[in-house]
Amino acid sequence: METTSLYADWKKIYPRHQEGFFRKLRYRIYGVELAIFFLLPWVRWERPEGMPNQAVLFDLPGRKFYIFDLAIWPQDIFLLAFLLIAAAIGLFFMTALAGRVFCGYMCMQTIWTDWFLLMERLIEGNRNARLNLDRSPMSVNKIRLKLLKHASWLLISGWTGLTFVLYFSNAPEMIRQIVTGSAPFPALFTMLFLTATTYVMAGLAREQVCIYMCPYARFQGVMFDEDTMIVAYHPELGEPRESNRRKRTEMKERVGSCIDCDSCVTVCPTGIDIRNGQQYECITCGACIDACDDVAQKVGMTDRLIRYTSLREMRGDGKTRWIRGRILVYATLLTIFLGGIVVYLARHVPLDFTVIGHRQPLYILQSDGSIQNNYTVRVLNMTETGQTYTLSVSGLPGITLTVAAINTHTSEGLPLLTVPPGSVTPYTVYVRQKQQNVETGRHEVLFTLKAMSSTGGESNYKSVFMRP
Ligand code: SF4
Ligand code: SF4
Repeated sequence: METTSLYADWKKIYPRHQEGFFRKLRYRIYGVELAIFFLLPWVRWERPEGMPNQAVLFDLPGRKFYIFDLAIWPQDIFLLAFLLIAAAIGLFFMTALAGRVFCGYMCMQTIWTDWFLLMERLIEGNRNARLNLDRSPMSVNKIRLKLLKHASWLLISGWTGLTFVLYFSNAPEMIRQIVTGSAPFPALFTMLFLTATTYVMAGLAREQVCIYMCPYARFQGVMFDEDTMIVAYHPELGEPRESNRRKRTEMKERVGSCIDCDSCVTVCPTGIDIRNGQQYECITCGACIDACDDVAQKVGMTDRLIRYTSLREMRGDGKTRWIRGRILVYATLLTIFLGGIVVYLARHVPLDFTVIGHRQPLYILQSDGSIQNNYTVRVLNMTETGQTYTLSVSGLPGITLTVAAINTHTSEGLPLLTVPPGSVTPYTVYVRQKQQNVETGRHEVLFTLKAMSSTGGESNYKSVFMRP
C-alpha cells in the first residue's frame, strides 16, 4: 500500500535582493525599530537620589518597571493588562485593514531574518552566487565565506541577547559585570539563550518560523474579509503568460502581460509563487511587487501585475471599503482600551494601602464601655520621595483611631505616618467606638489615608468594625 508522508522536505530558499519602493520602506521601518531596541537601554533618565537612572528598566528584583516618568508596580497590573489587550486589538485592527502587514514590516522575526540575509548577501553574494556556492565542492574559499557568514550571524545574535538583558539591569553596570565575569547566572543564561534562539530562528529556520511555528499566522485568517489588503497577482492582466518573445508575437492580443520571468518568485522570502493566488505563507512584504515593477519598467510593460489590493477590487466589485463593521468594532475596542489607559494614568494614585482586621480577639471591651478593634495597616508609598500621611476612620458615630508607636499628630489630632520612598511600612492601628446605641455585629467603616504633600495622593479602604 502506498503511504504518503505528512512532512514536506525542507527546501532551502535563496531570496534574491530586489531594490524598490517597498524594500526602501521596509528598511526604514526596520531602522527605526532596531535603533529603538538597541539604543533604549542606554538612554539615561533623571530620577531622585537612590533611584535607577535608566529610562527603561524592568527591575524584576525590585518588582518595578520604569518607563521614563512612569513607574509600574505590581499593583498596576490593570495597566499592564490594558496595555497588552490594546496591543492585541491594535494588531487585529491592523490585520483586518492591511492583512499580514505586521509580519512583513514590523515583526522581529522578519527584521532579524532580513538582517541576516543582508549579511549573507554581503558575504556570499546575491541569489545566483549563493546557489553556485552551495552547489560547488568544498574549498578553502567556501569554508572561509561560510565561517564569515556564521560569525557575523553569531555577532548579531550575541548583540541581540546582550541588549535584551540590558533592559533588566543597569546597562553600564551589566556590561562591566559581563566583562569581568561577575554577571549573575540568570543574566548570562538569558543572554546565551537569546543568542542561540536568534541565530537559529533568523539564520537557520527563517521562513519556517512564519509558515509553521508562528501561531498568529494560523489564526489571523479569521480577521480577513474581502476588503482586507492583500498582495495579489492580477491574472486577467497577466494571463496567459508567455516568456518566449517569438511566441508572444504570434499570440498577439491573446497573450497576457506576464513574461513568466520568475522574478516575483525568486525574491519571495517564503518561496511562494504569488501567481498561484492568495496563500497563507505570504507575509505581505511587497518584494514581489518591487520585482514585477522592475521587470515592467525594463520591458516597457504598462500593467501593474502584482499590487496591494483587496478581493473586492480583484473581483471588479467596486472599490475597497475601508470603513466597515469589523474595522469599526476593532477601532471602538481600541479606543476604549486606550482611553482606559489614559484615564488610569490620569487618576493614578501613587499610594496603596491595605487594612487587615485582627481576628484574635475580634473585639476588646474597654473599662470605659467602648469597643476596640485592632488592625494592621500596610502603607505602600509609590513615589520617589519619602511621604507623611494622615490616617482617619469614619462610618460609625464616635469612632476614633490611634496608631501604635506614633506620637506626632496634626492639629486636628490625626496621626502622621511616615513611609520612605518606594517602600511598604506596616502600622498597628487601634480603632475605638464609644457610643452604645449602635447595633451589634459587623459594621462597615472607611479608612482614609491622605498624603501631606500634593504628590503623595489620597486613598480609601473599606473594612469592618466588629461589635459584640
Ligand atoms: S508573495 Fe510577495 S508579498 Fe508575499 S511573501 Fe512572497 S514576496 Fe512577499
Ligand atoms: S515578475 Fe511579473 S512578469 Fe515576471 S513572472 Fe512575476 S508576474 Fe510575471
